[in-house]
Amino acid sequence: MSDLESIDLANPTEEHRMLREMIRRFVQDEVEPQALEFDREEKFNLDLFRKLGEYGLLGISVDEKYGGSGMDATAVAIVNEELSYSDPGFCLAYLAHAQLMVNNLAFNGSELQKSRILPKVCSGEWVGCMAMSEPGYGTDVLGMQTTAKLNSEGDWVINGRKMWITNGAIDEDGTPADICWLYARTGTDSKGRAEITTFLVENGMTGFSVGQKIYDKSGMRASNTAELVFDDCIVPAENVVGKPGESMIHMMRNLELERIGLAAMALGISRRSLAAMNQYASEREAFGSQIRDFGQIQRHIGESWAEYRAMRAYVYDTARNTDLSKSGNRLDTDGVKLFGTTIAKNIADRAIQVMGGYGYVGEYTVERLWRDAKLLEIGGGTLESHQKNITQDLGRNPEKINE
Ligand SMILES: Cc1cc2nc3c(=O)[nH]c(=O)nc-3n(C[C@H](O)[C@H](O)[C@H](O)COP(=O)(O)OP(=O)(O)OC[C@H]3O[C@@H](n4cnc5c(N)ncnc54)[C@H](O)[C@@H]3O)c2cc1C
Repeated sequence: MSDLESIDLANPTEEHRMLREMIRRFVQDEVEPQALEFDREEKFNLDLFRKLGEYGLLGISVDEKYGGSGMDATAVAIVNEELSYSDPGFCLAYLAHAQLMVNNLAFNGSELQKSRILPKVCSGEWVGCMAMSEPGYGTDVLGMQTTAKLNSEGDWVINGRKMWITNGAIDEDGTPADICWLYARTGTDSKGRAEITTFLVENGMTGFSVGQKIYDKSGMRASNTAELVFDDCIVPAENVVGKPGESMIHMMRNLELERIGLAAMALGISRRSLAAMNQYASEREAFGSQIRDFGQIQRHIGESWAEYRAMRAYVYDTARNTDLSKSGNRLDTDGVKLFGTTIAKNIADRAIQVMGGYGYVGEYTVERLWRDAKLLEIGGGTLESHQKNITQDLGRNPEKINE
């Protein structure tokens, strides 16, 4: 076999293949049995989350010397795909911790911050979140109104509210995340743009609390979403990441991994939905034949297969081309999330259609996947923001099209 023939984008090395097999077993034994219950009850499974730490998944992209597994963006995509095959809501909580908070610290924190905090978040002792969005500012992130000012003792005083924060609360009692990767405005540059600084806000710091846990979400109900309040919140100077006012670069770089992570979740949703509709089409008979003999059912299955395969190639090709220590892959990380998330929603929708009334009830899983898939078109950047970014990037670099 030539090298070209042996390339498997989704499992490029033996290590990746073993990782996938390990997670598949874990998902089958431990994730699948609880998924329906935690979705119905709108609860985050904290015990199961901590188990991900025992498997080395909470610090998947973190250097081993801090308790991580030292793996790459492809490994991140593998974990998210496999978890989302069964429980995208649980995977979203994992993503918020491992990709939005932990990975960001691993690549941007100081040695002191990394050696103190990373072992705790890699083991699962601490749960992390990332707070960027606000009640009045989402896509327009640079409009954020949460501010931080230095006081006379050299501490930072933070005021504002953050909205929609996954893992913002870790239980029903309003306990905040153990650590919050917080973006706040610390100034305005000469062009009038916000200067953004990152703060590591820890549970127990004065003025940091949960405003409300947000209930009755359409999907992703197995992850907690909360409003966070910073009311004269005091954060010591050693909890600032990088230089004040210079967080745009790591915000943008980490968003690239977030988009790959969310697209990989879409891939898991698509694969499960396709498997479910394919199996059902053989089992169900109508008018004296299997429903898979009907042309309209064949269209649902055929189109889903082709779209799933195209998405799989795009997700893993983009992951392979993403170096976690650098930014520079906005075009394709936007592209893959734009493409994959709507496809996942459509494939889950077709699965419901193929399965008729059964598809519409929770026990058959695909209605949950359909609800979960919708969030992927909003969180981590809306479809419209991806369209905007791609058009901007191709305007600046039209040669990309003919590369
Ligand atoms: C379940 C859930 C979990 C989340 N988790 C987190 C988290 O952990 N951390 C975090 O910081 N945030 C989180 N978010 C927030 C999420 O990232 C935002 O909801 C998202 O960025 C969109 O912001 P918005 O809701 O304020 O909508 P808006 O930005 O107000 O958008 C409203 C509409 O206007 C469109 N729009 C806005 N600007 C433009 C433009 N320039 N051109 C064209 N259309 C435009 C949007 O595309 C959208 O259709 C989460 C959200 C949800 C629902």
